Amino acid sequence: MKVLKFGGTSVGSAARIKEVAKLICDGKKNIVVLSAMSGTTNSLVEISDYLYKKNSDGANEVINQLGQKYYATIEELYSTESYKQQATELVNSVFDYIRSFTKDLFTLFEEKVVLAQGELLSTGMMNLYLNETGVASILLPALEYMRTDKNAEPDPAYIKEKLATLLAKYTDTTLFITQGYICLNAYGEVDNLQRGGSDYSASLIGAAINASEIQIWTDIDGMHNNDPRVVEKTSPVRGLHFEEAAELAYFGAKILHPTCILPAKLNNIPVRLLNTMQPEAPGTLISNATEKGTIKAVAAKDNIISIKIKSGRMLLAYGFLRKVFEIFESYQTPIDMVTTSEVGMSVTIDNSKHLDEIVNDLKKYGTVSVDEEMVIICVVGDMEWENVGFEAHILNAMKDIPVRMISYGGSNYNVSFLIRAQDKKNALQSLSNVLFNNK
Ligand code: ADP
Ligand code: ASP
Ligand code: MG
Repeated sequence: MKVLKFGGTSVGSAARIKEVAKLICDGKKNIVVLSAMSGTTNSLVEISDYLYKKNSDGANEVINQLGQKYYATIEELYSTESYKQQATELVNSVFDYIRSFTKDLFTLFEEKVVLAQGELLSTGMMNLYLNETGVASILLPALEYMRTDKNAEPDPAYIKEKLATLLAKYTDTTLFITQGYICLNAYGEVDNLQRGGSDYSASLIGAAINASEIQIWTDIDGMHNNDPRVVEKTSPVRGLHFEEAAELAYFGAKILHPTCILPAKLNNIPVRLLNTMQPEAPGTLISNATEKGTIKAVAAKDNIISIKIKSGRMLLAYGFLRKVFEIFESYQTPIDMVTTSEVGMSVTIDNSKHLDEIVNDLKKYGTVSVDEEMVIICVVGDMEWENVGFEAHILNAMKDIPVRMISYGGSNYNVSFLIRAQDKKNALQSLSNVLFNNK
């Protein structure tokens, strides 16, 4: 059995839904995970913002606009009155439900319920479309099997057991449609796996059913060797190791949600990135295989803050690093990059929520300085330290860029640089020119 996940753009219109329907009906047993139609989750976030501010007029305006999009999609998608009617009933009930929140107290709990509606709409509409065209697909409600625990982490044992029980009811069914992104939390409330989390749903489902492959279908032909939104002349990378893909996703390659790799890697399930707009393109295969000695791709992570702690007394001191890390731990702030020297250290964070408190606490141990609006550039590939030359090659590409930190040796798979946000485009372009385009 395979898991096929389609993102927002892939199901973003009636025409796209019809294309996806063709792709998923391949006669094999598939679980299809859908995101909300593109723009929907953003609109639901906007509606929630209005509701928090008790501005029901503002909320109603966005609700009506969003509703129009769905009614127009229904007209184009279904050909029979009976299915138009069923889809209209579904959309009416969802929008009436969202409207009901304009009258009552609005908290985080209600927000999660509102945010869940996008995936409920897209999957409901796809399933009706398939049924109209004679396909006996079954809708698997994610809220019946996808669950997080008290630490807000997915609960693989629960997911596996519930999904197996659900699937066992439909032994003759080949095509299942389910929602990405949404789940129940440890308290049984509606919750989600964070923005972009449908990729995570797909890999959790893949792990739970021990799928032969997890396919992430999107609007581009696989992982490119640099960010196509920023850099000219990027090209698809055909194969990535799980570790390489995880580094790229974590350090900004938007095509893949960073959490999505781990469940696949732990269960050794290949992940294939494919293009809905060009289904015959080979895309990218993420697996355990490595290509020795090659630099694969570059990614950038924005909104990074670097913190430098200089301590005259650090010389030959032990326990200094522990004390520094404990401060970050006590504010539940993860560190991305670390560099050290004999007199001090620099770290980076991407969450500024407790920055002032962290800086205040660090001042006990030395002089502290902060740089904001920084970017991590991450160069990924097979970079075992015995290989010579690749560091020089990468540094050559960065020769005109002011570099604040460099990190190498934490894994075999990456070299990272911290630079100013204003230098990001130049750095990415130069890395592409030198590393991939032989300029
Ligand atoms: P979906 O809605 O299908 O989940 P996303 O918008 O989350 O799709 O991800 C696809 C987008 O990721 C692409 O359109 C592309 O602009 C962007 N992207 C950023 N970096 C990369 C990269 N290295 N390779 C491919 N796509 C990338
Ligand atoms: N619909 C959700 C979002 O826009 C989840 C996803 O698309 O992966 O974030
Ligand atoms: Mg995505």
